[in-house]
Amino acid sequence: MKKVHNFSAGPGILPEEVIRKASEAILNFNNLGLSLIEISHRSKDFEEVMARARSLVKELLQLNDDYEVVYLQGGASLQFHMVPLNLLKNKAAYINTGTWASEAIAEAKKVGKVDVIASSEDRKFTYIPSNFEIPADADYLHFTSNNTIYGTQWKKFPESTIPLVCDMSSDIFSRRFDASKFSLIYAGAQKNMGPAGTTMVLFRKDILGKTGRNLPKMLDYEVHYKKDSMFNTPPVFAVYVSMLTLQWIKDNGGLEWIEKLNELKAQTFYDQLDSNPMFVGTVEKEFRSTMNATFLLTNPALEGEFDKMLKEAGISGLKGHRSVGGYRASMYNALPLESVKVLTSVMREFANKFA
Ligand SMILES: *Cc1c(COP(=O)(O)O)cnc(C)c1O
Repeated sequence: MKKVHNFSAGPGILPEEVIRKASEAILNFNNLGLSLIEISHRSKDFEEVMARARSLVKELLQLNDDYEVVYLQGGASLQFHMVPLNLLKNKAAYINTGTWASEAIAEAKKVGKVDVIASSEDRKFTYIPSNFEIPADADYLHFTSNNTIYGTQWKKFPESTIPLVCDMSSDIFSRRFDASKFSLIYAGAQKNMGPAGTTMVLFRKDILGKTGRNLPKMLDYEVHYKKDSMFNTPPVFAVYVSMLTLQWIKDNGGLEWIEKLNELKAQTFYDQLDSNPMFVGTVEKEFRSTMNATFLLTNPALEGEFDKMLKEAGISGLKGHRSVGGYRASMYNALPLESVKVLTSVMREFANKFA
């Protein structure tokens, strides 16, 4: 296979060995003589996959049995609506740090009263707000741990006395953190933990059942966890590949290992960015994401030249989001350090040629 350095923002890169195992399971799963995608989800073989995919989340995040994990469909986008449906009774507090946070706010407003207690929109989402007060009478506080499009990331999570809810779609399992401080976390799998098609949601059981709302079954967290995340046919392939990816993290040393690797990758990239006159970062340094590094050329007229060099080096997926332009290097868990080194050497070469 031709070596491509995959900086795609999502669906993003997966570990090579995970892709290999997944392709084997498509042909012949567990030596059953059947494909993973043509057997019953109620079969013993798949039930084990689902159980493992759920328990690995709790194991990696060191969560106890107060928590449940489910794999749902509808993307993180459905969670923007499901979270308030399940948790919002009086009002909810939200922090707006970018496109996805704004989407979450817009959907919550359709359900109930929302207080946006802080926003970084005033400086084009280039920082994470720090001066805000969390209303004690809100049902929960929602924020977005990593802003995939703008390239900022919370380095220290808000201290909250009300239930904390977080969209971790683009940095879940990228670093260590105290997950027991959270009441609910959701993440679309396709950025950092698997393929598109499933969303992992973990929550404390005791936050449910307080709104008095009569929910459609498919939108009720309680229905899903009480059926072991198999209320209806689950997205079997996406759950299987997510399970393999979590197992890959565990086998290599867990979150401590992945955090060190991710920090090294980010430092390698940002050191080059800061020492190279041809490039400039787009967000405030202390809030730079280890996952999505956003930057611009100091001379945009050279874009064509830079793109050509990227292509020749086998670098893919570096275009910035269509809403902000420029470049974005997404350095998700599965991206090898070697790919970052190839990128930084192209940046160096670009400066040698054109500076
Ligand atoms: C990609 C992304 C989403 C949207 O996810 P879908 O699964 O496409 O609905 C939401 N939040 C964040 C932080 C994201 O990066």
